[in-house]
Amino acid sequence: MKTSPPRPSPRFKFLLLGALVVSAAAAWNQAGPGTLPQAGPGTFKFKVHDMDRPAPTPVNPGNPATSVAPSDAIVLFNGKDLSAWTKAGSEAPAGWTIKDGILEVAPGTGDIATRQPFGDCQLHIEWSIPSGNTCKGQHGCNSGVFFLSRYELQILESSANVTYVDGMAGSLYGQYPPLVNAARAQGEWNTYDVIFRGPRFDAAAGIVRTATVTAFLNGVLVQDNVELLGATAHGARATYSAHGESGPLKLQDHGDPIQFKNIWIRPLGAPQVAQ
Ligand code: MG
Repeated sequence: MKTSPPRPSPRFKFLLLGALVVSAAAAWNQAGPGTLPQAGPGTFKFKVHDMDRPAPTPVNPGNPATSVAPSDAIVLFNGKDLSAWTKAGSEAPAGWTIKDGILEVAPGTGDIATRQPFGDCQLHIEWSIPSGNTCKGQHGCNSGVFFLSRYELQILESSANVTYVDGMAGSLYGQYPPLVNAARAQGEWNTYDVIFRGPRFDAAAGIVRTATVTAFLNGVLVQDNVELLGATAHGARATYSAHGESGPLKLQDHGDPIQFKNIWIRPLGAPQVAQ
């Protein structure tokens, strides 16, 4: 006849359960809420509400309604000339046209890119799909803003024109659809306000920080600090390849006469840290 191993007594089980509860509570106290490291002497450079903390630089905020840029912005297009731009990838003059203060893609002349390279930045740009354009999916009403000439925030007629959602206005092309469709009707002006932070690469470790984008279309949040998966690709998964911290900002000639005005940019330093 087989004999079973002795079973733990009810008293032993009770003691074991109690020990588990006590150790779980101890772990919660160590890792749970309220256990963030407390600031000790010397942790922070400034006191809370420190009157000696340096004041932020005064900036006149400008007025988008009158195309006046903030006082510390670099104006890339002021309605007059394309001196800040070249044909992308060359020193040749940008071939797009300016009429009545409006910049328009001259189809077939190629993308245009800023002479000055930019990295992390705040960008403001206004764009319009002329009412005479015939829009069908990705055709007829397409342009785009490429940060570092690689990462596209799409420009497309999206108030009535239907396409794949990761290719509509407000999308990071091929990666993230906009959170909402805030596109204005064809013939009206749209505004983009964007915070772009580029990726960082390390020779040994590869990518150590992905690019991130926060974007507002007509004042409405459409991209909320998303992490890009790589450089913009068409019909393929995006991947990264190492590059520097800055590069020309590029506007796309997709073969369609898209219009622009009031383009300005503010280079950004590193994100603030507690001090
Ligand atoms: Mg495009």
